[in-house]
Amino acid sequence: SLVPYGQGRGRGLGAEELGVHGEQMDRLVSLGLPTVVGITVPVSRARQLTDPALAREAVDLVEELTGRRVGSTDRPLLLRLVPSTPVAATGVPPDLPALGVCPANARALAELIGREHQLHDVWTTVLAVVAVDALDVDADDVDDVLTDTADGDRAPALLDLVARTGSAPFPDDPAEQLALAARALLHRWDSPRGRRARRAQGLPDDLGLALHVQALHVGPWERSGHGTASSRDPGTGAPRPHGTFHRGVSRRSTSGEGEPLSALPEGTDLLRHALATLENHLRAVATVTFELRDGKLALLSAAALPHPGARAGLRLAVDLATAGTIDRATAVRAVRPAAVQELLHAQLRLTGAERELARGLAASPGAASGVVALSAERALELSGDGVPVVLVSTETTPADVPALVASAAVVTSAGGLASHAAVVARGTGTPAVCGVAELCIDRDAGTVTAHGHTVREGERVTVDGRAGTVYLGELDVRPAEPSAELDTLLSWADAERTLGVRANADNAAEAEAALRLGAEGIGLCRTEHQFLGDRLPVVRRFLLAPDEDAHRLALDALTAAQQADFTALLQVTGDRPVTVRLLDAPLHEFLPHDEVYADPAHARRAAQLREVNPMLGLRGVRLALLEDDLYAAQAEALFSAWVTVAAAGTRPRLEVMVPMVSIPQELELAIGQVRRAADRVERTTGVRVPYQVGSMVETPRAALLADRLAEHADFLSFGTNDLTQMTFGFSRDDVESRLLAHYVGEGLLTASPFAEFDADGVGALVAIAVQKARAVRPDIKLGLCGEHGGDAVSVGRLAALGLDYVSCSPQRVPVARLAAAHAAL
Ligand code: PEP
Ligand code: MG
Repeated sequence: SLVPYGQGRGRGLGAEELGVHGEQMDRLVSLGLPTVVGITVPVSRARQLTDPALAREAVDLVEELTGRRVGSTDRPLLLRLVPSTPVAATGVPPDLPALGVCPANARALAELIGREHQLHDVWTTVLAVVAVDALDVDADDVDDVLTDTADGDRAPALLDLVARTGSAPFPDDPAEQLALAARALLHRWDSPRGRRARRAQGLPDDLGLALHVQALHVGPWERSGHGTASSRDPGTGAPRPHGTFHRGVSRRSTSGEGEPLSALPEGTDLLRHALATLENHLRAVATVTFELRDGKLALLSAAALPHPGARAGLRLAVDLATAGTIDRATAVRAVRPAAVQELLHAQLRLTGAERELARGLAASPGAASGVVALSAERALELSGDGVPVVLVSTETTPADVPALVASAAVVTSAGGLASHAAVVARGTGTPAVCGVAELCIDRDAGTVTAHGHTVREGERVTVDGRAGTVYLGELDVRPAEPSAELDTLLSWADAERTLGVRANADNAAEAEAALRLGAEGIGLCRTEHQFLGDRLPVVRRFLLAPDEDAHRLALDALTAAQQADFTALLQVTGDRPVTVRLLDAPLHEFLPHDEVYADPAHARRAAQLREVNPMLGLRGVRLALLEDDLYAAQAEALFSAWVTVAAAGTRPRLEVMVPMVSIPQELELAIGQVRRAADRVERTTGVRVPYQVGSMVETPRAALLADRLAEHADFLSFGTNDLTQMTFGFSRDDVESRLLAHYVGEGLLTASPFAEFDADGVGALVAIAVQKARAVRPDIKLGLCGEHGGDAVSVGRLAALGLDYVSCSPQRVPVARLAAAHAAL
């Protein structure tokens, strides 16, 4: 009926008999790890420990196992009685920390420890519990002694109180003490309060209790203590014990922050070995509580750390696979895409003392502090002086892009996850919070107000783009650190996945960043993004040209600018595929309503072009059909750029993509324009540029007619930003912050469909399109370039639809690589 630690399993006993603690000790012993010496009185026998005969056997057994005698003062030993339940539960009575102390040995033991009050502390704890719960002493009387008596006199005073008012005096004999201690713990466990606590946890009233008798070697307090440690440094993930240690014999008498593990008297080697062994066994970051008795380390508990932190989790997975403990696929599976996201971006170190200004949509991950600028001009001015800036604006337009790029972070009060600010911020890796509806921006007064806080332009705020929070003042931002382990894990992920991962990159710099992060090519170059900032007048002149001459001039300028941009882009992409999308310039982005035109003819034309619903207006291929030299000019610039880089030895695989198609003839006409451009380039350069041509699928009609598009297209790419907008009829720029938050809050949607791909509705359209397109052209390439391509949940759903690749903003490429691997495993 007494089971020494380490012998439970051999006798066929599990947690239902040994209790969770006993089972854990068994496991630790079987792993060869140092534990406290102890025995378990199994659940079915625990009540018998109240019998001094069994208690005597227990004491004898512990003495035999340790070679010491309880209560003796030359090789001193005390006992601790520890209860544990068959399943984890709260409300388990506390340990009784020191049995075997009596008036005859107390002084000698206290001297050995070197701190009298530490011995008295544990002794008093035992006496108080046993007095009330086993010897019928009035609890109020015990309380009076504890509050009214000086430290060192409490134990004698309690002994006296028990002798006077208890059902029996407190015994000196360790076995009799143990039997009473067991009775006290079981009495507490059986109390109405204990039963209520079990009922509240859904546990049976009569849940059993195992009792453990542990051997405590007593030694000098400086060489004793207790602590907690985990197997990895949470900051770096390095495999070294991380935790704290409190010196002293009694757990109760230690407080404060504790000491670093490096202060352990016997060093950390044994702890390091124990934690490494546990990591291997648990295949998780391990955490232990331990005790030090006279310099000797003993583990008291061990478990897998539930939230180990991104870096620790990643390094563990890579280390275990490198050591051959797990295979690479298991390592890949063990790392969450969200952890990768965390590792790639700067993060806030929060203390809990931060003051929040407002919350919005987590539009682009990362964190940064900076001074508030309420206009693009001010942002450029300040950042030009080297001041980190947080651009705060209602929304952004292409004219704001230089300021957006120069800013440390961006906050908008309107606009959703697929809004201009969000898309550009993700492309450039700038932290952004969008759609902060509660933010009141007063540019005239130079203030931003939310929740009663007012921030002036020039004051500091901190933006957490991962959580979607804006804080007052400057906070501690921890920069992202590149990590070799992440590269290793992602290379293993690449070996598992079948879904390709490309990047949305509009220029050479973004393409370079994307390739560094593992993109296999460019899945979307939005050519309208090449006309941002000081290039904006080029597109405007084209859109607003009042006559044929002005039109020609504007188009020539546009072509020249693009040829330079394409050449720079193709120089970095090497031989990889590069999907260049012909112009899709929603007019409100390029001709905003509040724009003042110096030229009256431009003003008139802008007024004519104004649309109530520009996202459904003169966009994409529609403009090219009205201006039939536009796409030809763009394609010519692209093909000429290809000729230039091909002469230098690289052969990018060009894919020319037509946006916003909903009628197959639109595609046919646009392809005709592209073909003529290729012919022209061949005539002037003598080079026949190899290219493929394809269509975006951004409207429900395009999805439903994918077979007819496939007759003309070498590839189709799903633009799920617009496809989601048009499938739900939710404006991608307007609904997210207020409306969709309400929908999510009320449970109508689980997440914004602009963030998480809608498998039911948009997914049904994509499935139809995939099936129809492949029926006509089995080898057609099918990709996706909406923002969903960088969202881990969405990537899983898209992989299931049988796409060939996804394309996402450069910073999200690693997330997509891992998510695609998870989808394949
Ligand atoms: C889309 O609609 O998903 C897309 C990629 O195009 P854009 O975001 O430029 O409209
Ligand atoms: Mg689109």
